[in-house]
Amino acid sequence: MTGREGSDPFLASAVRTSPPAVAVILPIAGSDPFADPRAEAPDPRHSATPPVPGSDPFSDPRGETLHPWHALSPPAAGSDPFAGRHRVVFAHAHPDDEALATGALIQHLTEAGVAVAVVTATRGERGEVVPGSGAPPAGSRDLDAHREDELTAALRALGAEGPFFLGEPPARAPGLAPRRYVDSGMRWLTPTVAGPGEDAGPDAFTSATVAEAAADLVAFLESWDADLVVSYEVDGGYGHPDHVHLHHVARTAAKSSGRPFAEVISIPRDGTPPDSEGVTWYDRTDRLDDLLPALHAHASQFTVDGRDAIHSGGQREPLQLRTGVRLR
Ligand SMILES: [Zn+2]
Repeated sequence: MTGREGSDPFLASAVRTSPPAVAVILPIAGSDPFADPRAEAPDPRHSATPPVPGSDPFSDPRGETLHPWHALSPPAAGSDPFAGRHRVVFAHAHPDDEALATGALIQHLTEAGVAVAVVTATRGERGEVVPGSGAPPAGSRDLDAHREDELTAALRALGAEGPFFLGEPPARAPGLAPRRYVDSGMRWLTPTVAGPGEDAGPDAFTSATVAEAAADLVAFLESWDADLVVSYEVDGGYGHPDHVHLHHVARTAAKSSGRPFAEVISIPRDGTPPDSEGVTWYDRTDRLDDLLPALHAHASQFTVDGRDAIHSGGQREPLQLRTGVRLR
């Protein structure tokens, strides 16, 4: 959807009253059925580490069970970060993040008539390839192009605009030559927390200053006439350096351009309840079938098994069909 929709009162109403299954959340200590000691598995995203058999805290038939912190209660008045928004920009670090972390939320918005654009910082150059997916080999330029195509297909399935890559027009600061930000890689600092890769080069996204990358994002926000910026929480979800860097970039861009910033809440991988203060939850647990085309578009990165994603290295994680968002 490309139209400017700021003047349509119906759309604003649609967003406010759409049935988000919104919950502001009261964690119940100790009652999480997923809070299980096996929760030591590293986060599967972007990891080169093979999974430990049987170690995945989410690979459990109880996957249909609600986390207690998802217990539904009415949203606090005015707490919906998307109320009255018409043109929302999601800033993501790598192709597939938009579908895995926020695909359900983006569909919720686009179905309500909100225009959504996704800006992606890198092409996930450091990621691995699902064996047998038919994708070009890891590390090749052909794989970069392949992942651009996958991202394009995923965005079409979500009803979102893009892809737009940070560092390239229209997401490049005026007067600067286009720049290609590259996946920084990562390493595990603890079993569940990632940190910067030791071999990130000068073209890595994390080697760019927050000021430069934020100026690029501001250029996009201005050209696309965005009224809200959405990106990761400060820990980037699990500490991937590109995600953490993008949190600061997106928040800086929003502030410097006078736009609100909303962060997607991290779901702790160790089974503990998330920090839910001020969070609005959007529940699409009954809409997995609608999300599948966007997920399947990223066939070089992961496959879908039931309600889980299985990554290129074999790691399993639950599909995120409930999304928590908080304005900052
Ligand atoms: Zn990512």
